[in-house]
Amino acid sequence: MRTVYLFYFLIGATLLGCEGNNNRTDSQQNAPHTRVIAHQGAWKADSLPSNSIASLQRAIELGCYGSEFDVHLTKDDILVVNHDRDFYGLDIATSTYEELLAIKHPNGESIPTAEAYLREGMGQQHTKLIFELKPSHLGQERALRAADLTVELVKKMEADEYVEYILFDYQAAKRIIELDPQANVSYLNGDIPPSQAKHDGFYGLDYNIKVFREHPDWIDEAKELGLAVNVWTINETGDMEDFIEKGVDFITTDEPQLLQALLQDRDGK
Ligand code: MG
Repeated sequence: MRTVYLFYFLIGATLLGCEGNNNRTDSQQNAPHTRVIAHQGAWKADSLPSNSIASLQRAIELGCYGSEFDVHLTKDDILVVNHDRDFYGLDIATSTYEELLAIKHPNGESIPTAEAYLREGMGQQHTKLIFELKPSHLGQERALRAADLTVELVKKMEADEYVEYILFDYQAAKRIIELDPQANVSYLNGDIPPSQAKHDGFYGLDYNIKVFREHPDWIDEAKELGLAVNVWTINETGDMEDFIEKGVDFITTDEPQLLQALLQDRDGK
C-alpha cells in the first residue's frame, strides 16, 4: 500500500514540477524581449562595491540574464576585476597582484581575480558572466596579451557556456574571435556599423545609448543581420521604456531591480 502512495506522490510531484516549468516557459514567451544585464554586478541598491564578488552574487540572486564585470591585467599577468584602471589609487597595469592585495574593498573583499569571479559564477546556471576585457594604457601589446590570457583562462576553466565577451579594443576583440570562433563577442566602442561587425565575426553590438540615439537605424539593421543588440548604461525608467519598445535584446543598467520591475509590469498588462 505504501508503495502505491509513494507512486502517486512521485507522479503528483512530477506533474507539479512540470506545471511549474510550463508556467515559467509561458511567462518567458509572453515576456518583453529585452533582458536585464547588471552593470558591474548588482551593487547600487545594496551599497555593495561594484565589481565585487558580492555584487555578482546579488545579480545572481536577482535572476538577471547577465552580470557584467571589468577585467584588467596586472604587471605580473594576473587578470583582475575592477572598473577603473586603478584599484583605490593603485595602478593595476603597473602593479603586481600581491601589491594590489594590500588594499581591500570597503566590504572587506580583496580585488577579485577573473578566475575567482568565473568560479563564483559557475556555481549557477541562469546568469551569464558578461566579461568586459579593458584596454591597456600600456599599449596594444598588453591588450592582446590580456586577450590571449582571457581565452586561455576560460578554456582552462571550461567556462565557455557562461561567458560573453565585450570590449572597446577592436583588435583585442578580434583576437578573441580568432582564438575562439564560437565565443560570443560584442563590440563596445560605437564606431562601426552593424554590417562591419557582422563581417568581422562579432556576436553583437553593445553601444552607449547616445550611439543608438544618433543611429536609430542600427538597431533594426543589427537585428536583421542576426546581431545581438545591447544598450548601456540605462538607469532611467523613460529610457528603459524607450529601448524596450525599440526591441533591443539587452539593457545594461546600474538599476537591475528597477528594470526587472518594469519588465514584469509590462508583462502583466
Ligand atoms: Mg564595463
